[in-house]
Amino acid sequence: MKFFYITIVSILFIAGCSKTPVIYYETPRELTNEQIKTNFIETYSPYLKNITFFLDPGHGGEDRKNKGSQGLAIEADVNLRVGLALRNYLRLAGANVIMSRDKDTTVALKDRSLLANKSGADIFISIHSNAPGQDGDNFTNYTSTYYHATESDYEFEPMEKDLAKYVQRDLAYAMRNSGGLGSFDGTYSDYHIYPKQGFSVLRLTTIPSILIEAGFHTSNWEEPRLALEDFNKIEAWGIFRGLCRYFKAGIPKISFQDQALNDSTQLVTYSISDSTSIDFKSIKVFVDSTETQRFIFNEKQKTITIELPTLVDEEKSIRIIAANKNGNFCFPFYDIVTDKLKR
Ligand SMILES: [Zn+2]
Repeated sequence: MKFFYITIVSILFIAGCSKTPVIYYETPRELTNEQIKTNFIETYSPYLKNITFFLDPGHGGEDRKNKGSQGLAIEADVNLRVGLALRNYLRLAGANVIMSRDKDTTVALKDRSLLANKSGADIFISIHSNAPGQDGDNFTNYTSTYYHATESDYEFEPMEKDLAKYVQRDLAYAMRNSGGLGSFDGTYSDYHIYPKQGFSVLRLTTIPSILIEAGFHTSNWEEPRLALEDFNKIEAWGIFRGLCRYFKAGIPKISFQDQALNDSTQLVTYSISDSTSIDFKSIKVFVDSTETQRFIFNEKQKTITIELPTLVDEEKSIRIIAANKNGNFCFPFYDIVTDKLKR
């Protein structure tokens, strides 16, 4: 009988314990030691200086309905805390930061893209936490980062996938999360969620953009962490570290150099440079949205010369894609070529 009571008491104790939320996280070394943090920021500051980021903490104001079942994490607030902490780290590194909201206010989805497009920022980062498709799923949890469209689409920008990869790797590592089972590295096309459309905030934003779904506020395990400001700072540090490494890997820069007549053709030359060399196999040239092989890459002079038919009262749109030897692609590059004299 005594054994029976002990068993009952033990079961009640265990059942009672299982209701207390489990909170587990580790603080990166840079955030526990001010000197290590300062050294890290100083090391990467040269790569981030003068870059302008547009941070978009999702939801807020009238849109506060997304929350965890334990009532601890409200998505709008989690996103804002991560965004503000990320702004702080980026500014310490000398970057400029603009935000779609820096308090609990309503910003329409379309306005987030419009504000970003007008801001003159280099990069748009939308910050969210996630929820599964099925109600009552308190188990699913992973970290994922989205880019727009897929590789076979003309509107796909390979550099957005590069950026997503770097942010995803460091964010998931800082949170100690996996990237989910729908992708090998935790980056996803937004067509994975909305086929052929993607997320409107990525589709309508014309500057390079990614969207982060840091963790699931619906997960019984993740929710209590997301509700802690200290943990949100770790998330922000993970994103920051990813951005540092992305920019350190270099980004090829393309600019117009020269245009010349050559018998019946026009040659248009662009200079292309990077801190590392350009991977010539990565170069793609499009004329009026159609890929062309009629170009020459001069590795020594760091130029790409494109051959066009003679342009008489005509204009051609040029798009160039190229990566450096670290695998980082250039920012979107488009140009309009008209008759030489009119340029
Ligand atoms: Zn969201």
